Amino acid sequence: VKNVLTIDVEDWYHTADLNLDANRWHEYESRVEYGVNNILEVLSTKNVRATFFILGYIAKEKPHIVRKISELGHEIGSHGYWHRMVSLQSVTEFKEEVEASKALLEDITCKKVRLFRAPSWSIGAKSLWALDIIEELGFTCDSSIQPFVTPLSGMRGAPTFPFYPVINGRRLGIIEVPSTVLKVGGLHVPFSGGLYLRVLPFSFISYALKRVNRNRPGMVYVHPWETDPEQPRIFKTPICRFTHYYNLKTTLHKLKNLIHSFEFFTLGELVESGDFPSVEIYQ
Ligand SMILES: [Zn+2]
Repeated sequence: VKNVLTIDVEDWYHTADLNLDANRWHEYESRVEYGVNNILEVLSTKNVRATFFILGYIAKEKPHIVRKISELGHEIGSHGYWHRMVSLQSVTEFKEEVEASKALLEDITCKKVRLFRAPSWSIGAKSLWALDIIEELGFTCDSSIQPFVTPLSGMRGAPTFPFYPVINGRRLGIIEVPSTVLKVGGLHVPFSGGLYLRVLPFSFISYALKRVNRNRPGMVYVHPWETDPEQPRIFKTPICRFTHYYNLKTTLHKLKNLIHSFEFFTLGELVESGDFPSVEIYQ
């Protein structure tokens, strides 16, 4: 069984926990290239190909980063344009920004962009309409549903495996690949990316991924800013001291350990690899 490695390419000041005004983004020091290079270097030691979900804003400001990732043979997906939570957008706003990000990435890479991940896993029960838009825009895979609930996002009871969503009796033409969790009894325990990957010891992450791999591929996700302990620090709320900055120095070590302990392929290859069940999901 192989696993999928995904990178959400955004800068430290784009994250939902810091919630900084987009009108002021240009005032902050950009560190995204440093973080992306950290990750590319680790991947090159084992020739691992990963899937990079890139923010439209990054593609616009720094197209050479997109070009470099693509030329190294990695896969490119869209992470939206402005890193706005889907749940806070209108249908039109969402469609316009995703379309713009897709067109930009396709212009830069000269390749079709078929994979989408919403910022902060923000497609949930109240924003399932977004899956219709993603399908309409020509994507074949969405990876935006988190099968557990946090204050920010998530969807209780969502499948924990890749599936074709069925909404109001219609099977969509896209495969949904939810974030990977360990099932313990009825609990969905997150471990495979972001804050969870930083907080948990590698021994647990490795154990959990092996358990998942007994019956399905897992998916890991990291952000370039999570490899950058030197990034500027803004403590917007007491909780973000933890969510954004905790254990940043462990991310690259864990990533290295993961690619030396597990086999990886891309999300596109997972989508190509076979049959997925259809599962009805509800608003
Ligand atoms: Zn993001």
